[in-house]
Amino acid sequence: MAKFVFVTGGVVSALGKGIASASLGNLLKARGLKVILQKFDPYLNVDPGTMSPFQHGEVFVLEDGAECDLDLGHYERFTDTNLAQINNLTSGRVYETILAKERKGEYLGRTVQVIPHVTDEIKRRIMLPVKDNPDVDVVITEIGGTVGDIESLPFLEAIRQFRLEHPLEDTVSVHLTLVPYIAAAGEMKTKPTQHSVRELRSIGIQPDFLFCRTDHHLGEDARRKIGLFCNLPVEHVFDGKDVTSIYEVPLNLHEQNFDRLICERLRLETPEPDLGPWRKMVGMILHPPETVKVAIVGKYIELRDAYKSIIEAFIHAGIPNRVGVEKVWIDSESLEGEDVGDRRLEEIFGGIHGILVPGGFGDRGIPGKVKAIRYARENGVPFFGICLGLQCAMIEIGRDLAGLEKAGSSEFEPATPHPVIHLMEMQKGIANLGGTMRLGAYPCSLREGSLAHQCYGLAEISERHRHRYEVNNEYRERFEAAGLVFSGTSPDDRLVEIIELPGHPFFLAVQFHPELKSRPGAPHPLFRAFVAAAIQHQEKSGPGGEVSAAG
Ligand code: GLN
Repeated sequence: MAKFVFVTGGVVSALGKGIASASLGNLLKARGLKVILQKFDPYLNVDPGTMSPFQHGEVFVLEDGAECDLDLGHYERFTDTNLAQINNLTSGRVYETILAKERKGEYLGRTVQVIPHVTDEIKRRIMLPVKDNPDVDVVITEIGGTVGDIESLPFLEAIRQFRLEHPLEDTVSVHLTLVPYIAAAGEMKTKPTQHSVRELRSIGIQPDFLFCRTDHHLGEDARRKIGLFCNLPVEHVFDGKDVTSIYEVPLNLHEQNFDRLICERLRLETPEPDLGPWRKMVGMILHPPETVKVAIVGKYIELRDAYKSIIEAFIHAGIPNRVGVEKVWIDSESLEGEDVGDRRLEEIFGGIHGILVPGGFGDRGIPGKVKAIRYARENGVPFFGICLGLQCAMIEIGRDLAGLEKAGSSEFEPATPHPVIHLMEMQKGIANLGGTMRLGAYPCSLREGSLAHQCYGLAEISERHRHRYEVNNEYRERFEAAGLVFSGTSPDDRLVEIIELPGHPFFLAVQFHPELKSRPGAPHPLFRAFVAAAIQHQEKSGPGGEVSAAG
């Protein structure tokens, strides 16, 4: 019989529930347990795929093509486990399921209600990972939002019922709160935590563990006070002080015996985990001997969450390269003005050792991305393009090397005379926007001897996708004649997956999203190679080449 951990949050949002859940998953896995994490989000979208990155941050894509909350990315990275569509539920999907059943008449004339129908569906979904996998030991379910929100209520009610229906030692509730430090009083305030726990208890859930986020250490006195008011032994109140790297969180929790106490409470007998390798990895992340600077030229840069997995992939890639990757964020639109000529570009990119153009949608910022790619190509700066980044590289090369002055993408220039990027055949005629892109893992064959082949060391790979547009095959010969190599394609050769320019130190772009598969213990080969190329570029350009980066 599996055990169930529920993680909720109170006081404010953005407390790092996802990282806390992922860290617990990491520790339980290190204790030899098979752990599945899942996220239940109370909003009404069926999935976050239709939401703007400005609203919701990155959409994380799983192997099976599920478009998910970015916390699923943390879960996969911290537990080195591939998750699936069933591991991300939203209120929208709950209602979609129930309404479809209602239309089929499956409720046999009964009135369909939040209790019991919505809560029953949520309870079914809590159990679903176990139904498919009898060897799962622990399911950790994180509830999005904040306790007290109207829309979270059915989820909390379902958890209350679930706990009632299962033996005490089979479920555990972990609640995250904020303990603010009031500088004027020089004091930490426990009241918001007390109120949040009171709110949770009024719904019928007594938390078993409290994880208190603070920017100061939570002293013994504060923990005792919180324990007393919240009906918990002091050792069940944890200090979640801010950390430099999210990868420190499992270590901090372990130092406070979090994993041991959870296992005791769930009556799971497990050995002490060996966190040595993780500790060593965190040491390299915190104290890299060197740093390199990489520019990220995108349009969602005000919201770093929009590029979460890319940020993490750079952290991972720095580990084997023994560097910290400093990211310089450049709004692609800021490169577009007439006044941004060669000199200005030199000022902006002069001290940069690599340029990454990430994915995106729509026409805003495209000319700036094309300009950045041209700069990288002409100046031998390592360039890595992802999805839209590949499409922009095709436009740049089309215009400058393949003699197609008006090369464009039909996504943002429907009337372009040279649509070097166009809608995929399978996308034509699709009207609905939700869940209809080319999504999830697809195989890709690599050309012998190419840079891509060298990086992966494999002839066939599999990567995750999220796009509607593709390289137009009609122009392939023309690009090849101009020197471009199509080094990765779908096994039937119909879809271009990777392009590269031989003769350049590192000029490679991919149609898929490699950042989604990078893990701290297994950095993605392309990010790893790109960072290595950035180090080489830095060594070549020497300290004299260091011009301060602007953006
Ligand atoms: N907008 C482009 C497409 O749909 C690229 C998508 C992306 O970068 N994820 O093909």
